[in-house]
Amino acid sequence: MSANLFHGDENCVGNITSCGTESLLLAMKTYREYRGKGDVIMCVTGHPGINKGCNYVGLNVVQIPTDEKKRMSVAHLKKAISSKTVVVVCSAPQYPNGVVDDVPELAKVCKSYGVPLHVDSAIGGYVLPFIEKLGKYKFKPWDFRVDGVTSINADIHKYGYAPKGASMLIYRNSTIRRNQYFSFATWPGGIYISPTAMGSRNGGCLSGGWGSLLHLGVEGFTSITAKVLEEVEKLVKFIKEDAELDLEAEPDSTIVSFHTKSFSCYLLADALEKRGLFVEKQSNPESIHMTIMPNHIGKVDNIIKAIKECIAEVKKNPSQYDLGSKAMYGMMAKIPDEAIT
Ligand SMILES: *Cc1c(COP(=O)(O)O)cnc(C)c1O
Repeated sequence: MSANLFHGDENCVGNITSCGTESLLLAMKTYREYRGKGDVIMCVTGHPGINKGCNYVGLNVVQIPTDEKKRMSVAHLKKAISSKTVVVVCSAPQYPNGVVDDVPELAKVCKSYGVPLHVDSAIGGYVLPFIEKLGKYKFKPWDFRVDGVTSINADIHKYGYAPKGASMLIYRNSTIRRNQYFSFATWPGGIYISPTAMGSRNGGCLSGGWGSLLHLGVEGFTSITAKVLEEVEKLVKFIKEDAELDLEAEPDSTIVSFHTKSFSCYLLADALEKRGLFVEKQSNPESIHMTIMPNHIGKVDNIIKAIKECIAEVKKNPSQYDLGSKAMYGMMAKIPDEAIT
């Protein structure tokens, strides 16, 4: 189902993994076996799961900047790619700003060097195809239609609406995927063959993912996506029109990021949090991040109203809202001591 959705042909193969991070880790392991050790080129906006995967399997990360639209810079890829490049990783969309990288142009560069291109579509895999079906896309093809894309990961447990624990990792062909397998033949317990990073796996998560895709079907996904996009469009229109706010980038999908002009946007985030509205704070540069999901359908008008009121409150009394907060991904409240090196 997923390979079809991403326009793969009958040669496509894949596995269900437990999360986007496991998919990325496995992809890095696969490309290390396929191509040897060396550099992985990613954009600064690429998910840290890529860095984590490279760290685990001993690959060197080369980070390149974005262009002015927050897409992975094609010009910088041309400068960075070399005989040491194992794989290039781009995103559809990248998480911080919901922007789909220019996959066709990146793929051209990769192809000319014989370098594989992996697309991280953890958060976009089960929403971009339906945005496209609705004719509302502003992005270029990002999937197996693009010659040069060799693998894609997509999380069923995000916009596939499955319980946490289900992600897909799909390869263009089995020649690449065979490098993903781990096998060990001489153990007294028998021949050990394991396709993914996990050993024993949770069949509940797998069937939850399968059930979600079957239950909603293409029609279900398309109609949910239409409603979510309506909310996204409302929010984007408000941000563009509000004198205090500025979009970080024109979003291609269901993620909206923005900043304030006359005060730190962390104060606005804190003011919203005091009201029980949790928005993510981002850094480099400071911004606010909102992922619009089906549970926000019909609620964005209220969120806009709250943002307007919070801007007015912060302007009146900025010191009241300085909670000394940090930009932490994934709803982590504070930095654990063990994480400080
Ligand atoms: C969420 C996400 C990941 C990581 O997925 P997990 O399931 O949280 O491990 C990777 N890449 C992108 C773009 C994501 O949004």
